[in-house]
Amino acid sequence: MTQADPNADLLARSRAAVWHPCTQMKVHETLPLVPIVRGEGAWLYDAAGKPYLDAVSSWWVNLFGHGNPRIAAAITAQMATLEHVILAGFTHPAVVELSERLAQVAPPGLGHCFYGSDGASATEIALKMAFHFWRNSGKEKKTAFLSLANSYHGETLGALAVTDVPLFRDVYAPLLRHQARLPSPDPRHLSPRTSPEEAAARAAAALEARLARAHEGIAALILEPLVQGAAGMAMYHADYLKAARQLCDRYQVLLIADEILTGFGRTGTLFACEQAGITPDLLCLSKGITGGFLPLSCVMSTDRVYAAFYDDEVSRGFLHSHSYTGNALACRAALTVLDIFRDDDVLARNRQRAAQLSAKLAALVGHPKVKDFRRLGMIWAFELNSDRPALARWCFSEGLTEGVILRPIGNTLYLMPPYVLSEAELDHLAQAVIAIVGRA
Ligand SMILES: *Cc1c(COP(=O)(O)O)cnc(C)c1O
Repeated sequence: MTQADPNADLLARSRAAVWHPCTQMKVHETLPLVPIVRGEGAWLYDAAGKPYLDAVSSWWVNLFGHGNPRIAAAITAQMATLEHVILAGFTHPAVVELSERLAQVAPPGLGHCFYGSDGASATEIALKMAFHFWRNSGKEKKTAFLSLANSYHGETLGALAVTDVPLFRDVYAPLLRHQARLPSPDPRHLSPRTSPEEAAARAAAALEARLARAHEGIAALILEPLVQGAAGMAMYHADYLKAARQLCDRYQVLLIADEILTGFGRTGTLFACEQAGITPDLLCLSKGITGGFLPLSCVMSTDRVYAAFYDDEVSRGFLHSHSYTGNALACRAALTVLDIFRDDDVLARNRQRAAQLSAKLAALVGHPKVKDFRRLGMIWAFELNSDRPALARWCFSEGLTEGVILRPIGNTLYLMPPYVLSEAELDHLAQAVIAIVGRA
């Protein structure tokens, strides 16, 4: 890099002043940060004007492109009217409209919206609500949570306790209350390999055995419906969700669906739970909810859960709060996201886009370096067979060279683009990925 590199100044100052997330900062002695100064549609641009196609939707949050004009205009208009107001004791039109609209589009029966600021806070809210629900219902012994192997529900201490990513969890293990982990329905982990249906049936049998033995002490089962994202886009059969719903009902355990990643069309339906025809007791939403513009999360609950808190006694209420709960700008962005889904026939157009990209990636199916090529909705993933050291970092750097942002998880390479790619952009993405696999 020469002194004239327009990116150099931002890089040096960022390394000095910003402690970056999910990062061993020393890595950036050799791996340069990518300084992004502008975004438009699926593209991000560095200070030198080099374009990168954002194939990870900026950590899975972007739906309709960077700088989406419709969302930007809605936020600007909201900003001129009301930017924020305390939500305890006060209310405002954007939060009321959003709560009504979410209840209309979510699985039936989830009529009460509680807001937080990010995904992990939604998980905390759902866990606390589930525990408190049983306490208010006279079942004080129900204090434990079940989660799945390789689960990810966020990284605050409560969420980390139900997260099964050793790299994120093990250091903090002394701070976490141990929670039981159940076999995942992810068929990749079974040997010998079986069908997704069989993997779902076996995982459901393990859940049933656990519930039969221990349900009296269990408050809730928390899971990521259909796709365990941080596990490496592990995709599993909807039968497991149907079984989990039935078993949770039978054994009086709440079901928490963490749709922070899968919500808002990622798996092909607006919510992944729809593909199993189930309603969870608590539904966690975040990430795509504002189209990637502003932090917002929401926990939706059933009348039954809500009713257990509704009382003359203050302490039986849910006294949890965050300063920015129900932020008006974020709610307005989320309403605009729902408008775009309604007006632009997004799910149908995504089905076309997905078929196009799958066709362009056909060379990867059966490729000697590719294992378990899979897709659900707007998520593509496969494991890369390669002996390269630090494979994920190598792929990331190769992606930048090709003008594509990829962030593999271990040896899993995945694509999770925004829902706006044109034919030419789909070509660019497919060609880049095929070229990288060829060199791996
Ligand atoms: C990203 C994610 C979270 C955590 O959300 P943050 O906003 O990063 O705290 C929780 N659950 C799932 C399934 C996620 O993908």
